[in-house]
Amino acid sequence: MARKDTIGIVFDDDFALKNVPPYPHPTFPSYESPLRIKSIVDFLENKNVLVNDRIITLKPVSVEESILSLAHTKYHIDSIRNFSNRGFGLLSEEIYITEDTFELAKKAVGGTIQAVKSVLNNEVAQSFALIRPPGHHALREKASGLCIFNNIANSILYLREKLDFKKKIAIIDIDAHFGDGLVQYFYDDPSVLYFSIHEFDFVEGDIGFIDEIGEGAGLGKNINFPIPYKTSDDDFLIFLDILEPILNEFSPDLIIIAAGFDLYFDDPIGNGLLTSISYYRFTERILRLANNNCKGKLIFSLEGGYSLIGLPYCVYTVIKALLGEPYNPPLFEKIKFKADSQRENIIRIKLELKKLLGEHWVSMK
Ligand SMILES: [Zn+2]
Repeated sequence: MARKDTIGIVFDDDFALKNVPPYPHPTFPSYESPLRIKSIVDFLENKNVLVNDRIITLKPVSVEESILSLAHTKYHIDSIRNFSNRGFGLLSEEIYITEDTFELAKKAVGGTIQAVKSVLNNEVAQSFALIRPPGHHALREKASGLCIFNNIANSILYLREKLDFKKKIAIIDIDAHFGDGLVQYFYDDPSVLYFSIHEFDFVEGDIGFIDEIGEGAGLGKNINFPIPYKTSDDDFLIFLDILEPILNEFSPDLIIIAAGFDLYFDDPIGNGLLTSISYYRFTERILRLANNNCKGKLIFSLEGGYSLIGLPYCVYTVIKALLGEPYNPPLFEKIKFKADSQRENIIRIKLELKKLLGEHWVSMK
């Protein structure tokens, strides 16, 4: 029986070794590479995190295709398997398949399932799935935006169908991008609250606006909090003014964080100006919410984050906050950015969103 204050870290060597796209850096899909996980794990080892007696490393559960089919069409599963069997192929602009992709993407689903199961079974207090490829853009019927299968959606459907867990779940998506795949699974589901904070994306962003608040029985249970480009540490956590009261009112039995770190200032894809301290503060606040609402049942599942310098710090700081240990940001993050404050814009978004949600939440009236 594990101690109550342990943190599970789900990891498999394959995430740090496999699915290397055969083209030189830097092309867009090559940002999603095994180096992401390798850089995190090397860093955690360096910092002696993995030998901390409160850290338990866990392996992904193996996932049969019958489990994948809870979240994906047969055509999608077949096409990823076939491409992988062929050895390689460009499935879309952002999806390059290698011979390892199918097995690796299945393992990523199994990693998130393991992270969720270990918390629900009280093996560990909280967990972090260090997995890839990411999942929150993946749709039921196709891969999208560097994502093959939808790790979090598949895990929730697994809980519902295989473990008969019907209780309330909150997903908080802090990736720089809108989880356009994840949102579609639960848009009309009153038992799943989806809260996404993401940057405005005028290039491809035709969804993810504040007035998309769910439908049918799920009305009010989809909350989008878009933020401007170049949001910094000073203003990032303003979204908690909405999230905290709503989460307390929703009172989830489980909280899953779609943990993307591409709002980090050095990220080659995202446009935020955050440093690692924002993720530390976020985790402290969300852990408190989890302790107050669901006995601390909180899971982080890795999504984006492509700065090989920043990503390890971001993951490390989340773990430090979960452990309740202090965190000192690295010196190179102590930069004074010359960006204009986005506070006024973010507060305007907050007030508009509050108005829209007043009909559905007592705490927003
Ligand atoms: Zn992203």
